[in-house]
Amino acid sequence: MPRQTLSESAIPSHVLHAGGRRHCSEPGVPSDGTSAVVARRDPFHALAALNLITLPVWIFDIDRRRVHWANGAGLRVWSAGSVDELRARDMGADMSESVARRLAQYQSDFEANGAVFHEQWTLYPAGQPVSLKVRFSGYRLDDGRMAMLCEGSGPSAETPESLRSVEALLHTAVMITLYDASGAPLYRNPAAREAVRHPGETLQQRIGDAAKYTRLVARVRRDGSTTLTLPVETVRGRRWHELSARACRDAVTGDAALLVSEADVDQLKASEAQASFLALHDPLTGLPNRSHVQQHFARAVGRLKASGRQAALLVIDLDHFKDVNDTLGHAVGDELLVEVARRLRTAVRHEDLVARFGGDEFLILLTARNIHAEVVRVDERIRRAVSAPVLVRGHNIRVTATLGVGLFPDHGGDFETLLRSADLALYAAKAGGRDALAFYAEGMSHALRARTELEGNLRLAIERRAFELHYQPLVCVRTNRIVGAEALVRWRHPVRGLVPPEEFIPLCESTGLICALGRQVIAMAARQVAAWSAAGHDLFVSVNMSSREFAADDVVQSLADTIADAGCDPRRLQIEITESMLLAGDDRPLQTLRAMTDLGLSVALDDFGSGYSNLATLRRFPLQTLKIDRSFIHGLSDNSALAQLIVDLCRLMNLRVVAEGVETAEQLRWVAAQGIAQYQGYLFARPMPAGAFTARLESAADRVPTQASGGCPVLK
Ligand code: C2E
Ligand code: CA
Ligand code: CA
Repeated sequence: MPRQTLSESAIPSHVLHAGGRRHCSEPGVPSDGTSAVVARRDPFHALAALNLITLPVWIFDIDRRRVHWANGAGLRVWSAGSVDELRARDMGADMSESVARRLAQYQSDFEANGAVFHEQWTLYPAGQPVSLKVRFSGYRLDDGRMAMLCEGSGPSAETPESLRSVEALLHTAVMITLYDASGAPLYRNPAAREAVRHPGETLQQRIGDAAKYTRLVARVRRDGSTTLTLPVETVRGRRWHELSARACRDAVTGDAALLVSEADVDQLKASEAQASFLALHDPLTGLPNRSHVQQHFARAVGRLKASGRQAALLVIDLDHFKDVNDTLGHAVGDELLVEVARRLRTAVRHEDLVARFGGDEFLILLTARNIHAEVVRVDERIRRAVSAPVLVRGHNIRVTATLGVGLFPDHGGDFETLLRSADLALYAAKAGGRDALAFYAEGMSHALRARTELEGNLRLAIERRAFELHYQPLVCVRTNRIVGAEALVRWRHPVRGLVPPEEFIPLCESTGLICALGRQVIAMAARQVAAWSAAGHDLFVSVNMSSREFAADDVVQSLADTIADAGCDPRRLQIEITESMLLAGDDRPLQTLRAMTDLGLSVALDDFGSGYSNLATLRRFPLQTLKIDRSFIHGLSDNSALAQLIVDLCRLMNLRVVAEGVETAEQLRWVAAQGIAQYQGYLFARPMPAGAFTARLESAADRVPTQASGGCPVLK
């Protein structure tokens, strides 16, 4: 099939812009040589005159992609017998996308500013290429649409090389423009023409920024050529172009000119920007990340010196965030972090930097004249912002935060040192009970070193089973006989001797080592119970359990295994928990307590009255014993009425009450007067090694026969 498509190729002749001139001249007769738009009513009649000229002329209907009319010479060029035959040909069928776009561009150029183009075109009327120079101008059809008047000027005498180079210039996506020395355009290739907002646009107008333009011109003048990546005004808005400019001469006039080629690198710039954003931001919250803060810090510090302001680095850690992740899942945890990030942003001024350091750790960099006061103010705002409940996927979550603060330059003159100071302060604030703020202080690093060392030693001690239990008697108030023992752990330290639990239990709890230690404690206690039972001693042993152990998934299974291994009667074992462990919010504590009771264990509520206490909420839990905290016993004169109430309620709830920390005979008299069944305290005995305890049991057994315990509730 013969190709009939317009395959244009153009001479790099100047595209002359008519500069907005638009002529609506007499029908059929262009008013002058540069007139582009010809308005007509009776085309064929008037156009008939054009049949007389020997140069090929035709009108191309851009919208319909058909030749609308041609003179005799035009018909010959197109190898057509008649206008009708030529009109029947569909030129669009085989037209490339770029040619179609180009034609649309011409059409709007004709409309906008009466443009005239001189180009080299190659037609394929009967499958054979026919090259000719064509002058294109606008021609308004009767129905008002803009068509294209094409005036051929005879077959071209171009060499194949120049034809091909012209073709390449026309088809390349690189925008090529020849500017005169003043920056006015002399020629644009089609890609460049498509990109400009209006054809006459100068290089200055395209670059917009006068300084950048001057720099470009200066560089070309100095080096002959230059390449810059800069934003350029285009029909698609401001876009990043890579622009190469080279000094040359206009081939027509011989005047100095500037040849500029441009490639659109906007996409590349965008991905580059995206990549650098990702490198400096936390993808979850969109907050700046550690590297960003590092970079920002250097700049901020530079400015501080000049302004006389001070700076503070705040490290913020959400308390018990791990619990949220563990119990509600990471998706909920993530949403919580996003919300906290948002709230932190609102808690500080616009110029303060809020960043996320991964996990649940955030960082704020503040500057102020009075930095101490500013930190206190921001701390309050953060606390208020963070502590308001967060609703995530139906869960109402409350979080608190712990803050460590390092001041610049007192606590660190460079970022790393300052951060370490703030971290140490955070550590100290956490050790002091969380939901607090601490400024860095001398000695914190020493404390941390000691703590790290202690942690290492504890791990080793757990591996080596370097712990032992001391037992403190639980005594029947009425008979003053030992009915049970509380097992209290001690660390047999190679250098320090026996270390009391206060010195290592908190660290075991915060590091999670408590679970391993707890298993050893239960095992030792269970074996001791079995031994005492075998020796005929009728008593129970009470063991303390921390919240981490109680919340562990395998707590019940682990208890069951240990008890079975030791061969002890679970009814002789009691687990001591504290009230806060029951207030987790869901019903896991209840399930765990039920499972423990099902095993045959009894459960005591330890330290009752030392903190927030609510007997009413305790009613739904299967508890057997309530231990009244020693602080309560020590301040007993003020608390008599309340103590009486507690004892009465416990009786109603069928709970056994134990008074802890009884040190004096007077306290014991008071305990007896309240009708409290059992007590524990230095008055009777301090905690002692198992051997000493056994000896005491045996000497007591000499004095009081076992059967005499009657009425004292030892076992349920
Ligand atoms: P706790 O459960 O309240 O244990 C009672 C503590 O009070 C014991 O201190 C005991 O020696 C002390 N005490 C007993 N009678 C008196 C008295 O009349 N006056 C005074 N002032 N104190 C008295 P200890 O053995 O140092 O234990 C301290 C805490 O360590 C325990 O408090 C318990 O919370 C924890 N703990 C001890 N052993 C373990 C254990 O095996 N596991 C866990 N998770 N915690 C343990
Ligand atoms: Ca206890
Ligand atoms: Ca206690």
